[in-house]
Amino acid sequence: MALTSDQVKRLIESVAKTVIAEAERLTALDQAIGDGDHGLYMKRGFEAVLADLDGLSRKPLPDAVKAIGTHLVMKVGGASGPLYGTLFLTLGKELPAEPGLADVAKAFGTAFDAVRARGKSDVGQKTMLDVLGPVGDVLAQASTDPHLGDRIKRVATEAAETTVNMKATRGRASFLGERSIGHMDPGACSSALMISAVVDCLETL
Ligand code: ADP
Ligand code: MG
Repeated sequence: MALTSDQVKRLIESVAKTVIAEAERLTALDQAIGDGDHGLYMKRGFEAVLADLDGLSRKPLPDAVKAIGTHLVMKVGGASGPLYGTLFLTLGKELPAEPGLADVAKAFGTAFDAVRARGKSDVGQKTMLDVLGPVGDVLAQASTDPHLGDRIKRVATEAAETTVNMKATRGRASFLGERSIGHMDPGACSSALMISAVVDCLETL
């Protein structure tokens, strides 16, 4: 899939605007089981991305994705900044300039492993990995499913929902133990939002 610079721009803009629009929801989730900064940090990170939109969209896709990672590392604090930074930096390193579905699946798998290593965490601990893992599995199994976009969005949204009943064993929410049960993980929510925004935008290009 070869994206023009205008399409890269629309893709980045739609992900950034989605995260910014949902910042209050992310903050509310982080207030329930964390320290309430996730929405603010993500908003700050993606405002920096939007401010650099023209520069980013002039780059080849892999370099643009890497540069987004750098913005997130610099502007998003807390645990999620370095983790999302790792996700985007690795994706950018792994993606070819004109990725096909198999390339996306492979790059996503490698990026997921990099986040796991960075967070010393895994699926099942009530974190962003509980969304990134299932989405990576769908991508890895995907062939020419005409409804792949819908399936990815459904899996991401449902995976975020499943974190509600999980007990956190990584990140700040783990300090709450059993009391972390009953709330969606903020990072799982932001991951699902970003993934759905990518799919929605790709379908309109
Ligand atoms: P902090 O907890 O430092 O305030 P944020 O609020 O920005 O960081 O992000 C919290 C989110 O980061 C959590 O909801 C979770 O999804 C994710 N997270 C935290 N620690 C880890 C980890 N070790 N591995 C994977 N994800 C993590
Ligand atoms: Mg927080």
